[in-house]
Parts: sequence; C-alpha cells; structure tokens
Amino acid sequence: MAKKFPPWLKKRVIINENLKKTSTILKGLKLHTVCEEAGCPNVNECFSNLTATFMVLGNVCTRNCRFCGVKKGESLPVDNTEPSRVAEAVKRLNLKYIVITSVTRDDLADGGAGQFAKTIFAIKQKIPDSKVEVLVPDFKGNQESLKTVFLAKPDVFNHNMETIEKFYPKVRPQANYKRSLNVLKFAKEADFITKSGMMLGFGEKKEEVIKVMQDLRNVNCNLLTIGQYLQPNKKCLEVERFVPPEEFAEYQKVGEKLGFASVVSGPFVRSSYQAEEMFSKSKKV
Ligand code: SF4
Repeated sequence: MAKKFPPWLKKRVIINENLKKTSTILKGLKLHTVCEEAGCPNVNECFSNLTATFMVLGNVCTRNCRFCGVKKGESLPVDNTEPSRVAEAVKRLNLKYIVITSVTRDDLADGGAGQFAKTIFAIKQKIPDSKVEVLVPDFKGNQESLKTVFLAKPDVFNHNMETIEKFYPKVRPQANYKRSLNVLKFAKEADFITKSGMMLGFGEKKEEVIKVMQDLRNVNCNLLTIGQYLQPNKKCLEVERFVPPEEFAEYQKVGEKLGFASVVSGPFVRSSYQAEEMFSKSKKV
C-alpha cells in the first residue's frame, strides 16, 4: 500500500477574492459541486478561477463506487428549481464553458436524464453563446435516457471509464465496462464530441491502461483525462501506487498517437480539469 505522499503531490493553496465569490454564489443558490462533494484537490485553484463543476440531482448517490467520496444512501427528491439556479450561477460567475455532472440516480426511471436536459436548456437560454459539457452516469445503458440528454445538445458528452475492466468489481461494482464503452459509442453515433476519464493508482499495469485508451479510440472517443487516484476518506480504497509524472506524460504521448484530439494526463488531472482548453482542441476533430 502506498502511504507517504510523493513530492509531486504537493499543491499550492490559493485563497483569493474569487474563491470567496465562487463559494458565496454557490452557497447563496444552494448548489452542489462535485469539486466539494468528492473532495477534489483542485477545488481552490478552480474556484479561484471562478469556475466549478455543478452537481445536479442532489448530493447523495444510489451507487457505492469504492473510490468516491460522495455521500451514498437515500437520494433527495428531484428539485425542479435546480436547472434555473445553475443557470443563474453560471451568469453570476460569467462562465462561458460549463461542466455539469451528477450523482447516479438508479432510483429514477430516466436516471435523471431529464434534469440534465432541463439544466442544459436553462443555461443555453440564459447564456446563448455558452458551451456545456455533461459528465453523465451510465443511465444503466438506457438509450431513451441518453436520447433525452442528446436532445438538449450538450457540446461535449463525457462519461468516465474510471479504471481498467478487471478492477470494476473492486472499484465500481455497480458499473459495467462494456456498458460504459457503449454509452460513449452511442453518443458518438449521435455525432457528439465524446470524452472520458481514468484514475490510476489501483495497481493497473501500463499495458492495461493503454488497452482502455485503445478501447476508447475504437468507439472514436475524442478527449481523455488521466489522473492520480487519491483516497477521499478511510471508507474508500487505499492508493496502491502513486504514478510518477513521467508516466502520465508517456500516456499523453500514447494517447495523441492513438488519435485523441486532446489528452490531459497528470497527477492532479480530473474529469473537468482544463475542460475548456480540451474542448477548443476538439474542434479540429
Ligand atoms: S456513481 Fe460512483 S463515482 Fe459517481 S457519484 Fe456515485 S459513487 Fe461517486
């Protein structure tokens, strides 16, 4: 088990007016972010840049991924005012590129797809030239739910593979590797820019990581993020290995050779890290 934090996992804490402004706006509008709920190491940096990844459908998940710090249990009722509150926050933060994600709501017939669609519509209505990326759960592979999200025309469709196939039972027991690939394939067939993400540090080998990258390119996935898994709390899996920055750099090169329009790979990289930059690179797809 990897215990001691290596030198490259030191993060400068930024505290500035923007950080306070972002937190105040989010609190004032009673909004959740995955940044705070999952304990993202970049939260200070992103909030200080007046950006955040909104988490809709409450902050309690119906699944129990062993790497995730989000609360698990009885989910909250769907709040119909949430889409307009997110759009209001986007306006106040003057965001042009917005990422929306959610907990997984296996308790809802549409898995929460309707709330994603309403939130995209509310943002695009309020800020017509905005770009919206959705980081979605797998909706149990339900194509009607996926079509509901497609109808709202997100600019980037993101769904994480998270780890290698053989670790799914240990790391994300309610997910399915092939199902997640098919979700991305279905979005690509609907002509969306697609994106996915992985975390390393569970003991995966290089060739296994590259296999996931190849599987993603086989479904024409355009964008990829690769980051270091960090244990959010004692209930979650321990880190098996801290992957050195040089290895992340290698994966970036391999990914570009495989044909991804953009790969962002590094210890602190998370699904929506540098999302706007990646989107601009995706335009050449
Ligand atoms: S589906 Fe898994 S990763 Fe996503 S919020 Fe729920 S527990 Fe966390």
